[in-house]
Amino acid sequence: MNLGQISVPGRDDGLAGKVAVITGGASGIGRALALAYARAGVSTVLGYHPGDPHDPAAAVADVEALGGRTLAVEADVTDSNAVRVLVQNAVSEFGGLDIAVANAGILRRATLADMTDEHWNSMLDVDLTGVVRLLRAAAGAMHGSGALVAVSSIAGGVYGWGEHAHYAAAKAGVLGLIRSVAVELAPRGIRANAVIPGLIETPQSLDAENSLGPDGLEAAGHGIPAGRVGHADEVARAIRFLTSDDASYITGEHLVVDGGLTVRFPS
Ligand code: NAD
Repeated sequence: MNLGQISVPGRDDGLAGKVAVITGGASGIGRALALAYARAGVSTVLGYHPGDPHDPAAAVADVEALGGRTLAVEADVTDSNAVRVLVQNAVSEFGGLDIAVANAGILRRATLADMTDEHWNSMLDVDLTGVVRLLRAAAGAMHGSGALVAVSSIAGGVYGWGEHAHYAAAKAGVLGLIRSVAVELAPRGIRANAVIPGLIETPQSLDAENSLGPDGLEAAGHGIPAGRVGHADEVARAIRFLTSDDASYITGEHLVVDGGLTVRFPS
């Protein structure tokens, strides 16, 4: 029987020497991903939102301390031109683009009754159209194979979440978007997948006004089979996997990273 070429899993995941763009790269999951990529030998361009209280210089310093190459670029994902420039930076500074991770996102609390068109549109503009802007620019800049990842959420991606319908709609939309982009770009050797984080301790989830806050996260951890909420690095490593050669035949999929939260028997 001819089994063809069998590759033995080893430490070479194909990432070393690659170039990645990450939106929302100055904090939380995006920043953890920049560090994970630095350890894997991936050069990164970190998009950051100028109005937000995250320090891109500190993210750059942390990556460089690991021996990684990185560059922080101001890029609001609601601005198509800024996203195009973000991607162009990868090409001009590092010679090309292999990976793009649409991670930037906002979370706002609003009941359906209070949800104005402005609430709805501004949420979708960042959390769904912002993803389209990055995938479009990145796919246009890729001249060989590549990998795209978008960050969805268990809110919308798996569960409903009261007072967060606009967020959940955007995050559910990300999954349909990724499946379609995966089909469209597969002939070019570009894969597209989503990650669905559960409850992860980051600035977003620590915001008590719009999310659970520190006390809510602590309490929620007890209901998670793993017994705790997740760390940003645990999502980052799942994204690193999806963009590596270890996932070479995986496209149009989503990977839930939630410590078993969404598969537990309801009690
Ligand atoms: P975070 O707030 O640290 O990260 C979000 C990042 O997006 C920030 O760096 C922020 O500056 C950036 N951003 C916001 N608006 C932007 C804009 N208009 N343009 C460019 N950047 C913008 O929180 P996080 O948890 O690391 O979030 C990363 C992603 O993970 C988000 O898409 C979020 O919705 C998703 N997520 C998080 C959790 C969780 O529990 N933390 C769960 C599910 C999904």
